[in-house]
Amino acid sequence: MIKYIKIGITNYRTHGAFYGNIIHLVILAGLKFNCSGGIGRNCPKILNLHFQHLLFSMMRIKELLMSRDFESRVEVRGWVRTRRGNKSIAFVALNDGSVIHNIQIVIDMTKFDEEVIKKVTTGSCIRVTGKLTASPGKEQHVEIHAESIQVFGTADPDSYPLQKKGHTLEFLREIAHLRPRTNTFGAIFRIRHALSFAIHKYFNDNGFYYLHTPIITGSDAEGAGEMFRVTTLNAADPPLNEDGSVNYAEDFFGRPTNLTVSGQLEGELGALALSNIYTFGPTFRAENSNTPRHLAEFWMIEPEMAFYEIQDNMNLAEDFLKYLLRYALDHCKDDLEFLSGMYDNELIGRLNFVIGNQFERITYTSAIDILLQSGEEFEFPVSWGVDLQTEHERFLVERYYKRPVIVTDYPLEIKAFYMKQNDDGKTVRGMDVLFPKIGEIIGGSQREESYEKLTRRIRDLKIPEKELWWYIETRIFGSAPHSGFGLGFERLILFITGMSNIRDVIPFPRFPKNADF
Ligand code: ATP
Ligand code: MN
Repeated sequence: MIKYIKIGITNYRTHGAFYGNIIHLVILAGLKFNCSGGIGRNCPKILNLHFQHLLFSMMRIKELLMSRDFESRVEVRGWVRTRRGNKSIAFVALNDGSVIHNIQIVIDMTKFDEEVIKKVTTGSCIRVTGKLTASPGKEQHVEIHAESIQVFGTADPDSYPLQKKGHTLEFLREIAHLRPRTNTFGAIFRIRHALSFAIHKYFNDNGFYYLHTPIITGSDAEGAGEMFRVTTLNAADPPLNEDGSVNYAEDFFGRPTNLTVSGQLEGELGALALSNIYTFGPTFRAENSNTPRHLAEFWMIEPEMAFYEIQDNMNLAEDFLKYLLRYALDHCKDDLEFLSGMYDNELIGRLNFVIGNQFERITYTSAIDILLQSGEEFEFPVSWGVDLQTEHERFLVERYYKRPVIVTDYPLEIKAFYMKQNDDGKTVRGMDVLFPKIGEIIGGSQREESYEKLTRRIRDLKIPEKELWWYIETRIFGSAPHSGFGLGFERLILFITGMSNIRDVIPFPRFPKNADF
């Protein structure tokens, strides 16, 4: 064990904070510290040499559980999940969120002040130093034999709400400030993180640029009636025009503004310059849909590609989704296994199935034929021209094809103005990717690149053309075939975690009549 380390500080002003941390670590590790004259450029090298050793004392539970460095002194900090034992010995299961598993702390009660140990209860936050030891227990390989315990924060057993296991997900939604401390939500949020990272990795590795599109938008072309207004006007006493309507000229932006429902329109501007871009940001929809698949605030991933036709778009969507599922299986195994055991034992099989099979590709028209011939009684009746409801989508995916399905070429009337019009004059080159249990997970299309066709459609739909001048102008200057899609991040996480309510896959869900936390 290294007992002595020499540190030279050559330029304190630049490196002060950094060395300060190192010095702190040295002290934490219980090493002797000696600051003598400068040793110049060798200093960082010397520090590096010992850095790993120093960090060891700061390891998180995930690493400690994998360590076999028995008899080494370690330090952990975390929240107590459970405590059991008797007057002479206590076993504490400690978790710091780095991994689904807890580390066991063994406390020889005779060695500790009773007053301190009394405070080590479920929910309390503690720091423990001790010896990493091979565990005789079946549950774990290693445990820590405590040498010192510090209680950072107590949790009164009479009022801490996460005392027993088996709380309902509904109850946990009401305590969203504490639910990250449960196994379920720890697993979900770690998976959310891993998948966010995977999304950026996929696009970065494939030459896409991350484009930041605005959250506040002046256009409401896409979201007619479903947008949240952004204003600094006094709602109780807004400035009025002569006709009694609100005078938005006096508002912050001098015009009505809303929270965005999608970054697509601006994404297209990026694609028509950088070729391949993607957005990944929050979107907002004031649709009053109290369903297990809708949130008022959700995150969307929207790639947009110049020179992609609809086939290329479908290929990308399929490859992207399979990559993400594979990434989850490769990087979130423990969490997936936990969720699978807890909620849905077909989960991992389903993920593997989707990865291993080609998505079915059908047109809307053949989807309608299949539904009509199915003999099924649907709540929403089927005929050519209606929008597919979740029950229809799930029938196609779960009962008919038994695999993900991409439906293309929807009726012009039910799709957005920007979708490329087919020559039949009736359908557009839209594509929805439908998944088991979820229904629509991706909505996308080839975009209309013709100025004439685009503006005709905008006029037919009575969309204020003036507001979209910038979008339309890309069809005048260097227009190009291009495509894109939107993947709802929470729907992806729903599928990957096997959870059934979208409110349980985002840390702080926003839905009608709820914006707590
Ligand atoms: P749906 O028909 O399911 O309401 P949509 O057709 O309105 O979805 P799009 O506008 O195509 O959805 O948005 C792209 C993707 O964003 C959808 O495929 C879905 O994954 C996701 N999404 C849409 N609305 C929501 C919402 N309210 N909450 C969570 N995710 C959503
Ligand atoms: Mn859609």
